[in-house]
Amino acid sequence: MSPPAVRKKPVAIPRLSLISMGNCGVGKSCIIKRYSEQVFVSRYSPTIGVDYGEMQMPDTCVALKIVDTSGNPFFFECRNEFYKKVDGVLLGYDVTDMQSFTDLDQWLKELRNHSNTDLEDIAFVVCANKVDGVSGAKRVVSEAEGRRWCQKHRFAYLETSALTGQNIAEVFKTLVEMIKYGQSGKGKPRVSDADLKDSAPLEPTAEQATATEKVMSGNNAYERLGVSRTASKDDIKKVYRKLAMLLHPDKNCHPDADEAFKRLAADKKDLLGE
Ligand code: GDP
Ligand code: MG
Repeated sequence: MSPPAVRKKPVAIPRLSLISMGNCGVGKSCIIKRYSEQVFVSRYSPTIGVDYGEMQMPDTCVALKIVDTSGNPFFFECRNEFYKKVDGVLLGYDVTDMQSFTDLDQWLKELRNHSNTDLEDIAFVVCANKVDGVSGAKRVVSEAEGRRWCQKHRFAYLETSALTGQNIAEVFKTLVEMIKYGQSGKGKPRVSDADLKDSAPLEPTAEQATATEKVMSGNNAYERLGVSRTASKDDIKKVYRKLAMLLHPDKNCHPDADEAFKRLAADKKDLLGE
């Protein structure tokens, strides 16, 4: 089956922010990669772990930003930023690893502590991954146990395999539909049909473009942040906050925004000796 057609040009429909959560090794990156490669026209940045793309729904096209957590230390520096505005969560565990299942509660706690969004307004799809049995490891978390936990939290449950592709497209389709139609707990629909109809080409603002280009062309941390070598820590923090707002890939669609944001975070760390 050929992948659904996607629009070439990004559109200014509200970009949905999805985030992956779950223990290391459960297969989150593989699930996202499998989906992205099939369906996305994406610009994936493995360093920052953010995948941008668009998804063709039966009647509309939805812009997605998928933040794949874990892995690189840079992410931890910024993860609070990403947790703040979350529309949907891909919460994964490995059916051959009981610890990854029991730790799901910890992941919810972490999100609750950092997100500005009420958990009841976030769509959750739980991926019971590695149901293929290919690795030879025995399944230790039953479907009934997985479903029970999800019912308790009113989350969607899917048995997945990034290896065979089982239910992978379904994960993202379910997330988008839950967000779009407000089926995440008592949440309201995030994307109205009117929003979708009025979509216009997405461009960075002049201020965002200038800031991005400045950070990309600076030869050192001082130049990139535009601060003098004698600037105080407070001054550096102030400049950082302003630039971070302008460059944040959630708001800035300049093609270099994620790279510039990454450099900015590293520069701040260097200059403040963190
Ligand atoms: P992450 O840390 O959650 O992002 O996990 P990864 O996506 O990096 O996957 C961890 C390991 O699990 C890799 O060796 C993958 O090949 C393997 N893996 C991921 N998904 C599946 C799956 O559906 N089935 C099997 N058998 N192995 C998988
Ligand atoms: Mg990963």
